[in-house]
Amino acid sequence: MAKESLKTVAAMEGCYQGFNPAAYLQYNYTAPRADFDRSDSIVPWKLSCLHRALTEDDIRGDVLVDVGSGPTLYQVMSGCERFNRVILSDFLEVNRRELQSWLQKGKSSLDWTTYFKYVCELEGRSSSAWTKKAERLRAVVSDVLPIDVHQSCPLSQGTLPPCGADCLVSSFCLESVSPDLTSFNIALSNISSLLRKGGYLLLIGALGESFYMGGPGLCIPVVPLDEAQVCVSLRASGYELLQLSIYHLPTDMKVGVDDVTGVFFAKAKKY
Ligand code: SAM
Repeated sequence: MAKESLKTVAAMEGCYQGFNPAAYLQYNYTAPRADFDRSDSIVPWKLSCLHRALTEDDIRGDVLVDVGSGPTLYQVMSGCERFNRVILSDFLEVNRRELQSWLQKGKSSLDWTTYFKYVCELEGRSSSAWTKKAERLRAVVSDVLPIDVHQSCPLSQGTLPPCGADCLVSSFCLESVSPDLTSFNIALSNISSLLRKGGYLLLIGALGESFYMGGPGLCIPVVPLDEAQVCVSLRASGYELLQLSIYHLPTDMKVGVDDVTGVFFAKAKKY
């Protein structure tokens, strides 16, 4: 990587030092963005995309890796039923601690109950099955690991089977941790090295976003992406794009914690 690029990756790393998991959860994972009574709310849309993507091709396997989990669990609530082992990962210890706290003690800065109930309903189960789903998630998460998507080997060696994971999920990570598009594309290639040939990538990300708040007063720069660029980047990283869905933000979802205009959901298969 060029020296200049390295400097800016280091600057991004610096931005994350003040990241506040509880504030981030409050900004993005409560109403109106997580309003389960509204069909146009962001979180129900994301959960439905994940559910559909996994069920329509009956995607299953041994290992699922979630790249850049942050302090959130929603992105693996469907996948935990379909894989024997789920690995969560984040660059920051403060986020890994937040996840471990829920896994080990059931404690979290956010109550995930309504999320579990919603995914149970998507799966055709009664919402009262949510405790079983929470148990299942706790049982299949084998590790919460440090990860750096800017490294050619983002996870420490030997973590995954030699052929790689069967499925990768990553939500709002690559564009939020990269200083520019070149770095975003390199990060996408780096995480692809974790996936086996023929494995699936479920990538969720922000469109048209230039910043988001990682806590009070902490403005984190984001690479603004558009739909066409997402397609180009995925193909250049060796993926067949199977599905691209776009969510346009209703005005009242613009709550002042970022300048995102939309969200993409991509399902892609590694050649
Ligand atoms: N996946 C979560 C979600 O859907 O809300 C969190 C996304 S948050 C916008 C970006 C995450 O990337 C943060 O949790 C941050 O700690 C993590 N991160 C920062 N630098 C990273 C890096 N170099 N490699 C991997 N993850 C990184």
